[in-house]
Amino acid sequence: MDAKVAVIGVGSIGSMTLWQLARGGVDAIGFEQYAPGHDQAAAGGESRIFRTAYLEGPQYVPLLLRARELWRELERESGRPLLTLCGGLMIGAGGSEAMRNVVESATSFDLPHEVLDAAEMGRRYPQHRMLPGETAVLDEWAGVLRPEFAVLAAAQAARARGARVVTGCRVTGVEPSADGVRVHTPERSYTVEQAVVTAGPWTARFAPGLARHITPKKLVMTWYPARDVAAYTPDSFPIFIRESGDVHIFGIPTLDGGSVKVAPHASYGDLADADDLDRNVAAAELEPINAAVERLLPGLDPTPVRVSTYVDAYTTDGHAVVGRMPGAENVWVLGAFSGHGFKMAPAFGQVAAELVTEGKTSLPIEHLDPARFAG
Ligand SMILES: Cc1cc2nc3c(=O)[nH]c(=O)nc-3n(C[C@H](O)[C@H](O)[C@H](O)COP(=O)(O)OP(=O)(O)OC[C@H]3O[C@@H](n4cnc5c(N)ncnc54)[C@H](O)[C@@H]3O)c2cc1C
Repeated sequence: MDAKVAVIGVGSIGSMTLWQLARGGVDAIGFEQYAPGHDQAAAGGESRIFRTAYLEGPQYVPLLLRARELWRELERESGRPLLTLCGGLMIGAGGSEAMRNVVESATSFDLPHEVLDAAEMGRRYPQHRMLPGETAVLDEWAGVLRPEFAVLAAAQAARARGARVVTGCRVTGVEPSADGVRVHTPERSYTVEQAVVTAGPWTARFAPGLARHITPKKLVMTWYPARDVAAYTPDSFPIFIRESGDVHIFGIPTLDGGSVKVAPHASYGDLADADDLDRNVAAAELEPINAAVERLLPGLDPTPVRVSTYVDAYTTDGHAVVGRMPGAENVWVLGAFSGHGFKMAPAFGQVAAELVTEGKTSLPIEHLDPARFAG
C-alpha cells in the first residue's frame, strides 16, 4: 500500500479533504496536476463569496455554519487571514423563490439578518440603484474568502501534519482492484485502500456513470473601477447577489484598492471537457454585464479594467455530487459544485474524511447523493 487514502485533485475540496484526513491521523496522499493554490481551475480569481442565508435552499445551512467554524480553524492553524465577514446583501423581487429561500434560511436557523426596503437601502447602501418592487436581506454572516491562499493554506497544513502531495502530476485513471484502489499516473501506479475524487471541473472524466449529468462551464469575472473607492471597501460595501428581472449578478468589495468585482451568475457556455476552456472573451460578450453595472451600480465606471476566465462543473440540478462513486468500490466523489462550492469547502473536507473513515458523515448531504443521477 502506498497510502490509506488517495485524493485526486488538490484544489478547493481536495486540499480541505487532505487537511481533515491529516488532522485525523489518516495516511493520505494527494495528486495535483498543477500545484495547490493555482488559478487554472475553479478556485482562481482573487475572491469568493461566503454567505449563510442561502438562496439555494436552507438544507445547506448546517454545512455553511460548520464551514464558518472550520475557516476560522484553518486561519488559526495556518496563520493566514482567509475570511473577512463584511455582510452580504441579497437583492431581488420580494416574493421570488431565491428571496424566499434566503428569508427561510435566516429565520429557520436564527441567523443574524435584516430585511431592508428600498428606502432603507437608499440611505445605507446608495451604491445600489434599487428597482420598483425590490427588497434586500442583509446576511450579517456573509463575506469574502481568498480562494488561492485558502487552498494553499489547507495543503500546507495537511503537509505539516504528514500528508503527501504529488504536484505536477495528472492522474489518468482510478481503478478499483482486488487489493484496494489503483491510482494511475503517467509515471507509475499507486495502490491505496480508498480514493476520493475531487477533480472539480474534470470530475466527469472519473465518473462515467454520472457524466451525462455533469457539464464544465466557462465563467468570466470582471472588475470595474470605483469612482469613490472609499464607498466600496469591505467596511462600507457588503458582498451582494442580485436578481433584478433577468439580470443575475454578484459583487465583492474592492480588495485591490481600486476595482470592484461584479460578474454575471450565468456561464459563458458549456464545454465538452474542462481542457477545452478558451480563456479569451470577446468585447461583445461583456456588453450585458457592462450594461447591468451601468444600470444598477451607478458609482462604478461600466468598462471593466480586468477580465478573467475560469471553469467549474455543474450538475443538471445545480447541486453537487457527494458520496459513493456509482459502480466503483472504495471510491468516493465530491464534485460538480455548480458554481457555489467554495464557501463550504472545509465542511466538505470533513464530510470526505468522515466518509472514508466511518462510511457515513454527521453533516447533512442527502440532497447531494450521486445515486440520484446513477442509472
Ligand atoms: C468564476 C467563479 C466564481 C465562483 N464564485 C463562487 C463564490 O463566490 N462562492 C462560492 O462558494 N463558490 C463560488 N464558485 C464555485 C467554487 O469556486 C467551486 O464550486 C469550487 O471551487 C469547486 O471546487 P473543486 O475542488 O470541485 O474544484 P477545483 O478547486 O478546481 O479543484 C479541482 C482540482 O483538481 C485538479 N485536477 C483535476 N483533474 C486532475 C487530475 N486528473 N490529476 C490531478 N489533478 C487534477 C485541478 O487541477 C484542481 O486543482 C465560483 C466558481 C467560479 C469558477
